[in-house]
Amino acid sequence: MAFFEMAKTAILTTLKSPATRRYPAVSAKVAAISRGRVTIDPSRCISCGMCMRKCPSGAICVVKDDKTWSIDRLKCVVCNCCVEVCPAHCLVMETGYSPSITVHEGIELVHITYVKPERPPRKEPEEKSEQG
Ligand code: SF4
Ligand code: SF4
Repeated sequence: MAFFEMAKTAILTTLKSPATRRYPAVSAKVAAISRGRVTIDPSRCISCGMCMRKCPSGAICVVKDDKTWSIDRLKCVVCNCCVEVCPAHCLVMETGYSPSITVHEGIELVHITYVKPERPPRKEPEEKSEQG
């Protein structure tokens, strides 16, 4: 009896369209709760390193001197923590199509273009008028 059940399931499965998608040829299905992948607006990043410090998997690396921000896509667990802590709001989760990657292509490096605004010159304290 079990054999016929199994044969029926196998035949029906063969006739139906596959339950899986042919990613990356066909983009992945995006559900309402899908987080997507971390993306950065390099023109707004202030190199504070907060995302790097808070990332639980060590996927982000910020090098202030080189003005670079990088992410290891294969380490990222899509927890959204970096997006939540970024004070410049330059990190977002993008749910659009993302191509497949290999271990050699996992690290994505971005050059930060943010330019720190010049501080207005400090006002010299007014000289105290001599009394007496
Ligand atoms: S989503 Fe989470 S794991 Fe991925 S880079 Fe941001 S903090 Fe790290
Ligand atoms: S992405 Fe945001 S949290 Fe990370 S270094 Fe840039 S400004 Fe700071």
